[in-house]
Amino acid sequence: MLEVSGLTAHYGDFQALFGVDMQVEEGETVAIIGSNGAGKSTFLRTLTGLRPSKGQEIRFCGQQIAGLPADQIHKLGLAMVPEGRRLFRSLSVEENLLIGAAGKRKGPWDLKKIYDLFPDLVAKRNNPGTALSGGQQQMVAIGRALMSNPSLLLCDEISLGLAPKVIMDIYEAVPMIRAQGTSILVVEQDVSQALAVADRIYCFMEGRVSLTGTPDSLSKEQIANAYFGIG
Ligand code: ATP
Repeated sequence: MLEVSGLTAHYGDFQALFGVDMQVEEGETVAIIGSNGAGKSTFLRTLTGLRPSKGQEIRFCGQQIAGLPADQIHKLGLAMVPEGRRLFRSLSVEENLLIGAAGKRKGPWDLKKIYDLFPDLVAKRNNPGTALSGGQQQMVAIGRALMSNPSLLLCDEISLGLAPKVIMDIYEAVPMIRAQGTSILVVEQDVSQALAVADRIYCFMEGRVSLTGTPDSLSKEQIANAYFGIG
């Protein structure tokens, strides 16, 4: 479904990614782990067209998407839950969700399905974003991305700043999302969460893939070494 080969990224003279290869197969949940500054967000932003990618090799559902504008990539079925949620705080939960339906593709996700996925949002549907807890805001951000019926959902640090119980609630949604046929690529600093949900993980260190494999096949030592550069 997604095939990235040799991806590079620069901020001026600074190189943030050095030839990253990655595949996500249809139906998979894949996690990218890595410490602050490893290049995870830059990678997602490059996939979605928020950063320049012209001339690179990013194939999505058989099509070369590098260099396409972000809205076109979104229409092809790649939607992102951005770091920090970025809700329209003065709009209601439902209005935020409906914004996600702009450019909607055919698929299983609609308002009812989102409320089934996150029942906490039902009673809040007319409340503004400002009246929500951090966890509820994250649910709206995920729901908003799903409303476009993406075939691949990209999630950037959905556990950031949330209490452990809330993180567990949010992550409970991942298998349900996948059961609807939506593939998922999550960026996560919380390694145990990533290992718990993912079919495969990629660890990034200093702009490179330092380790990849299935959670079962990787030892704690290998992950610590790939994550922090220690072993
Ligand atoms: P975090 O978990 O902190 O978001 P990350 O793994 O997502 O980290 P990136 O945000 O992709 O890492 O950053 C990768 C590198 O690129 C870092 O060294 C960072 O300082 C640098 N960087 C990110 N954004 C910019 C920018 N707008 N201008 C210059 N350098 C940047």
